[in-house]
Amino acid sequence: MLSKFKTSSGTSRGQPKLMPVTAEFANKWELFRGLYESSVIKHFGDINQAGKRLELMFARPEIETATGLKAASVSTSIYNECNFRTILPKLYTSPIETIFCPDPNQGLYCQLLLGLIQRDEVITVGSIFASTVLRGIKFLENHWHELCYDIKTGRLSDWITHSGCRNAASLVMKPNPEQAGLIENICNCKSWEGIVRKLWPKARYIGCVCTGVMRQYIAELEFYCRGLPLVSTSYACSEAICGINLEPLCKPCDVSYTFLPNMAYFEFLPVENDHDESIEMKRNDEDTELVDLVNVKAGQCYELVVSTCAGLYRYKVGDVLMVSGFYNTAPQFQFVERKNVILSVDQEKTSETDLFKAVTEAKALLDPLGFILTEYTSYVDTSSAPGHYVLFWEIKGKEGKNCKELDPKIMVECCSRMEESLHYTYRIYRKRNIIAALEIRVVKQGSFEALMDYYVSKGTSLSQYKKPSCIKSEEALKILDSRVIGKYFSPKSPL
Ligand code: AMP
Repeated sequence: MLSKFKTSSGTSRGQPKLMPVTAEFANKWELFRGLYESSVIKHFGDINQAGKRLELMFARPEIETATGLKAASVSTSIYNECNFRTILPKLYTSPIETIFCPDPNQGLYCQLLLGLIQRDEVITVGSIFASTVLRGIKFLENHWHELCYDIKTGRLSDWITHSGCRNAASLVMKPNPEQAGLIENICNCKSWEGIVRKLWPKARYIGCVCTGVMRQYIAELEFYCRGLPLVSTSYACSEAICGINLEPLCKPCDVSYTFLPNMAYFEFLPVENDHDESIEMKRNDEDTELVDLVNVKAGQCYELVVSTCAGLYRYKVGDVLMVSGFYNTAPQFQFVERKNVILSVDQEKTSETDLFKAVTEAKALLDPLGFILTEYTSYVDTSSAPGHYVLFWEIKGKEGKNCKELDPKIMVECCSRMEESLHYTYRIYRKRNIIAALEIRVVKQGSFEALMDYYVSKGTSLSQYKKPSCIKSEEALKILDSRVIGKYFSPKSPL
């Protein structure tokens, strides 16, 4: 019997979706947590006994659906579980009131504050996704003076008006000038390289998903966490629980998830690479036979299809995975990309991975000059003919450098480098002027935070937010466009 619904984050397709939940399905999350935690404990020791976790967590209010059943995001459902609420005070630094605070900024401030006050106990730092950890670090960059003042005086800032947060914080806060001084000294240094390790010296790892669309944040996270392993523990979605990482110490780019056949019935739709050297017509999904979990082949890419005990039947999750190996006989998968993220002006198709590779090549031009690309997304501008690809880039100067110092010639060079790094079909179309010159629009600092805030205001849980690789909503586009500080075009078609 259906007991409730789960809401997906909806950031890649625009609208959150409702997924059915039964009691049996809900219990699987508890089992899943036990499984991935045992993999972590094997490699990092018993973190449950050694200290507390500073985990940034944000719940969304439940909504009532037309059926009368409640709907909530997966993370909110977990935070609402009785078991979770019981273990929370012992294992985490964040009180439940800060997780359920309706204003994510107040919740974040209090979670960071309490994480800093208990810094000597913190054994892991993390959130579900890498982007939320970075949001936390950037928030800290902007608020550390105020946080230190609060720690020094033992009084919470006035703008924290949520009574639950105030009460929870008051139970832990007392004037501590010594601790505030130590934190101030750490935060006051010119470079924030390795700041996480300095602030939380006992942390053994940073726990957050760094695969899929999150891989773009690895370099920046590694900068802030210098020396601490980045651990992607698991792969799951609102539709089904899928796999765990049995090698948490491996490099983020090598992470594979071992699928758990007791969580759902998994089938796989073979996926072909369709733009190598020629424009192949893609086979219709209906013509392609589904492959069972036991029959997948190493090296092959598949789209994940799930049937669950909660009632989904052969449901396409929209994720493309590659078989990277086997644990005994259980297949292991690397996350490749979201399937529906495609830029296309004509018949060419540019996937999330194509885009990621081209951006990686282009941003390498910025690194030696002391600038980091912190965020990017894309869209196809067809307002003039022919249409062209637009990339929104948020760039940060290292060690206090100002983005205004960035030479425009370098940005034009980045546009060219991106075009040269895109696939054959794109380059041919560009040469034939079927696609116009690629454009990079540099946006001011904080633009992608504003984008995140927009999606959160539309119902996405901050814990589950995944920035779209390709913008499809008019409103989201306006948010970025209104913050553009420079536009650059590729000067010539790629060779
Ligand atoms: P949600 O809408 O919150 O259910 O998001 C689930 C989606 O998040 C999945 O379908 C994936 O696209 C993405 N996701 C979840 N876990 C991972 C992971 N470990 N690596 C890459 N992507 C992930």
